[in-house]
Amino acid sequence: MFKDVIGLSGLKQILKSFLKTNNHLSNFIFIGARGCGKSTMALSFAKSIFCFNHSGGGESCGSCESCLMFERGQHPDFILVKPTSATIKISQIQTLQNKILSAPALSSKRVVFIKNADKLGLEAANAFLKTFEEAHHRCFIILSISTQKNLLPTLLSRGVKIYFPILTDHQISDILKIKFNWEQSQINQYQFIFKQGIRKDWIENWDEFSALRDEVIKILLDLPKSDFSKVLFAITNWANKNQTLLVIEILMSWFRDVIVINHSQKGYLINQDYLLPLKESFWCKIDFLNIYDLLLMLRQSERAIHFQANKNLSLISTFIRLKELS
Ligand SMILES: [Zn+2]
Repeated sequence: MFKDVIGLSGLKQILKSFLKTNNHLSNFIFIGARGCGKSTMALSFAKSIFCFNHSGGGESCGSCESCLMFERGQHPDFILVKPTSATIKISQIQTLQNKILSAPALSSKRVVFIKNADKLGLEAANAFLKTFEEAHHRCFIILSISTQKNLLPTLLSRGVKIYFPILTDHQISDILKIKFNWEQSQINQYQFIFKQGIRKDWIENWDEFSALRDEVIKILLDLPKSDFSKVLFAITNWANKNQTLLVIEILMSWFRDVIVINHSQKGYLINQDYLLPLKESFWCKIDFLNIYDLLLMLRQSERAIHFQANKNLSLISTFIRLKELS
């Protein structure tokens, strides 16, 4: 149900209006940062499309056969496609294409949700293009992507684009309280970390994530005087624990904050609990272009790791650069 989505009332109204004028339902592309509510919204939207009883207001009833099956994750006409590894493979698209050839079982049309469609490999994206163009006779397709630049322009131009805003402090607080049962004191201390999106993967392993973040930030602050062998040890340890991508995200949030502190009066900080040490650190004295280069380097490392590059090597190169700058 749309009421399961906290906040985003403007977007809910827009999607409900499409439901009221059923003829105008088409393919949708949900665009927004990871953790800003795209998947929850897509599921609520699909459930409402399927509901046998929606009263015209666009809200699903939660009690008809269709709603109950959807809630159990067993709706026969709902198809979810998401990356099973670094990418969505062409074989997954071919399976989808075969499925939608047959008639839907319960509803008049199927709903297909392609989560993280920016992970469609080039071959898979090209194979999917025809489906996306022509499927509307048989199904509605919703794609979710974090940024438009990662989707083929030919796909991007064939759907209604819905942009998801950054969550407000109030929404973040409500989500942490209602969906994750966080205490108010914990919310007050950490909610700023989720400013770019509610990250379930962090919350579900909160103690581990929080300890890792403290460790990475300590290494960053100590880097000028630290023995590099200790850094190498930490990097190996992170790779063994499969934490390299998390470390890269923490590093990116740190350097993003450096740019905000030095160049923006209005931007919010992600690492607000480390504001003083960060402000007084050498990182805030480094030239903007170097910080910008670091962010590009981290982004490239992230992509390389998604495509199975050696995790250790990607991070070692980054920390050598950091040590040089420190
Ligand atoms: Zn229903």
